[in-house]
Amino acid sequence: MKKTLSILGSTGSIGTQALDVADKLGLEVCALTAAHNIDLLEEQARKYKPALAVVFNEDKAAELRLRLADTPTRVSGGMEGLIEAAVLPQADMVLNSVVGMVGLRPTIAAAKAKKDIALANKETLVAGGDLVTDAVKDNGVRLLPVDSEHSAVFQCIQGMPRRSALKRLILTASGGPFFGKTAEELRGVTVEQALNHPNWSMGAKITIDSATMMNKGLEIIEAGRLFDVGGDRIDVVVHRESIVHSMVEFADNSVLAQLGVPDMRIPIQYAVTYPERFESPVAQLNLAQVGTLSFFEPDYDTFKCLTACKKAFAMGGAATAIANGANEEANSLFRKGKITFLDIGELVTGAVDNIKNFTPSCVEDIIEADAEARRYVLERV
Ligand code: MG
Repeated sequence: MKKTLSILGSTGSIGTQALDVADKLGLEVCALTAAHNIDLLEEQARKYKPALAVVFNEDKAAELRLRLADTPTRVSGGMEGLIEAAVLPQADMVLNSVVGMVGLRPTIAAAKAKKDIALANKETLVAGGDLVTDAVKDNGVRLLPVDSEHSAVFQCIQGMPRRSALKRLILTASGGPFFGKTAEELRGVTVEQALNHPNWSMGAKITIDSATMMNKGLEIIEAGRLFDVGGDRIDVVVHRESIVHSMVEFADNSVLAQLGVPDMRIPIQYAVTYPERFESPVAQLNLAQVGTLSFFEPDYDTFKCLTACKKAFAMGGAATAIANGANEEANSLFRKGKITFLDIGELVTGAVDNIKNFTPSCVEDIIEADAEARRYVLERV
């Protein structure tokens, strides 16, 4: 297929798998961006020869500029560079796989530049809310989910006769490394234990989010925004094997599910080729080999982030940006060994409960809500 991609966050887990998908499909890549990993970005730039390579860290951008001086690739830095990559004229689609709400401005810029967006950067949609969905609607572009659960829902609703036929979304959660544990048992867990995800190989931030179940909380909000469904119609079920990627219930109580081996290249590829399907390098699903699929209720008392996100989504306004900002800060502090695992849930809950909510009217409002949530967390450490 013929398509030119701009990949934001190309050195991360989703970014590298997206390049793998691009290779298999024979797609062009016009822009690549990284936060700071210039060794890998240089390697990618030499292979894919994009018009633009961007490093968010300005010092590292300067270094990469010297390293790529013998190539036709232009190097840019900072938020300005990310936005440049999001609006590059030759891009048909922007795949946003940056980590965190730093992806907000580039996502909105891509929509305004009439680019279809493949979104792996859930924090953007959680924090940005209507600002993002409105920019997508107003500019008539597509916002295609890359998150496996949301891709599953999206695949299940293809051919749905009308919106009112959709009754409920059922998001599956692996439960992460700490499924079934009590708060008491989680008191002393280490960063290494939290990074040990049973099914998915992902970046550090999302793997911790998965251990706290913040990831599922963010995904409830993401699903609500993507599919325009209230939180009261989105349920979570823990599914240890990560084979059923999510489900949709219709008016007649018929439930459709999307299944596959846990490999992000399926949702990445579907977002890129939608509505088409092509062969992929992903292994076939062998259900007899899997044997058993199990399902459990999530533990909302122990995994407080999940509860905090549900509450923030019901509150609306800036509350989801606050929950996300508090978590981004707490997640990072936990990885640096500054707070305990259970502190993350306490801090996210505290931020949602105590910071004054308001209705954001512009990106600056969102950024301010995010900053306030981060301050709240830092003041309590
Ligand atoms: Mg997911």
